[in-house]
Amino acid sequence: MTTEELIALSERCLMQTYKRFPVVLTRGLGVHVWDNDGKSYLDLVAGIAVCALGHSHPSVVETIKRQAETLTHVSNFFHIEPQILLARFLVENSPFDKVFFCNSGAEANEAAIKLARKYASENMGGKYELIAMQESFHGRTLATVTATGQERFHAGFAPLLEGFRHVPYNDLAALESAIADKTCGVLVEPIQGESGVVIPAPGYLQGIRRICDERGLLMIVDEVQTGIGRTGTLFACEQEDVAPDMITIAKALGNGFPIGALLATDRIAAAFVPGCHGSTFGGNPLATAVGLTVLETILAEGVLENCRRVGDYFLKRLGELKEKHPRIREVRGRGLILAVELTEPGAELVLECMKRGLLINCTNGNVLRFVPPLILTRADVDKAVEILDAALEER
Ligand SMILES: *Cc1c(COP(=O)(O)O)cnc(C)c1O
Repeated sequence: MTTEELIALSERCLMQTYKRFPVVLTRGLGVHVWDNDGKSYLDLVAGIAVCALGHSHPSVVETIKRQAETLTHVSNFFHIEPQILLARFLVENSPFDKVFFCNSGAEANEAAIKLARKYASENMGGKYELIAMQESFHGRTLATVTATGQERFHAGFAPLLEGFRHVPYNDLAALESAIADKTCGVLVEPIQGESGVVIPAPGYLQGIRRICDERGLLMIVDEVQTGIGRTGTLFACEQEDVAPDMITIAKALGNGFPIGALLATDRIAAAFVPGCHGSTFGGNPLATAVGLTVLETILAEGVLENCRRVGDYFLKRLGELKEKHPRIREVRGRGLILAVELTEPGAELVLECMKRGLLINCTNGNVLRFVPPLILTRADVDKAVEILDAALEER
């Protein structure tokens, strides 16, 4: 079908929950994707921080084929070898003891909220309230959208859930004074991705840990976007030297195969007993086999080192761009989650880059967000910066 035909069909048959670009992507390899008309793009979106190993990574393709031929799905009523092995990998490479598998970031956060409530109902005298951050993003289910501290995601969905309050991000005093009788925990992103790659002051996460320890609260960290190597370590919390009570991961864990997970310490995880939470697809053999391959490949192929090195280089190059273009207000980033904040809306610039063969994302109106595959090279960065530079000249 032609691109026009596909787009017309898309508008006829799909619920219009996304404002889509007039492009049909049909193929990907490494850091590149191709559209229906054969045009190639350098992909710095990577399915929104998902394809960490790039598109069609041979190890991931091989695992999908092998596992699909062996066993795709069985119920969690049975033990599943790839699920067990992926859980072992996660607990051996984190401060956590137990894993619950699901299919997305929202589901992982939903599980974390439920586990916090379950634990609190049994161990904290019936507390249930979570403090989350303004401008946060935690997903689109009713509980996670309630946790999300942005009105624009709430509109039309009232009544939202009880038991959430929001305080400004990167503000420990505000957090401390919001703690109330019913507060059982704190939910926070190490870097706010969706709202524009907002990086808190050093020590912020440690401060939350200290407050949670002093006040007997659970610390839940949403690493759905920052986890699985994005910031240069497997988890962003590592760099802050912080051990939360729970973290959630998803996006890059399956490199595009849907999978999410909640990780918790034994003390907290013990509140989840048979029958109280579950998922038909969560942790199925195919998804978890892919997850294990993704993690093993990230470690075996030096992807974390590459992410740090190329991320530093990218940030330096963006800094140079800022010197040249007064419309750039600020550049920031850690590892390969980076942003260029503009003094004006960025949508036009995204289209201009697309015309020139570069896919980037604009979030929060005026922030260009870069969450490319972690296998990005310096040459790819040079190419991207060249296109950005030209697009900024043009517009
Ligand atoms: C993307 C994202 C989510 C939601 O993940 P889905 O897989 O879209 O449900 C939750 N939290 C953060 C921090 C995210 O970036």
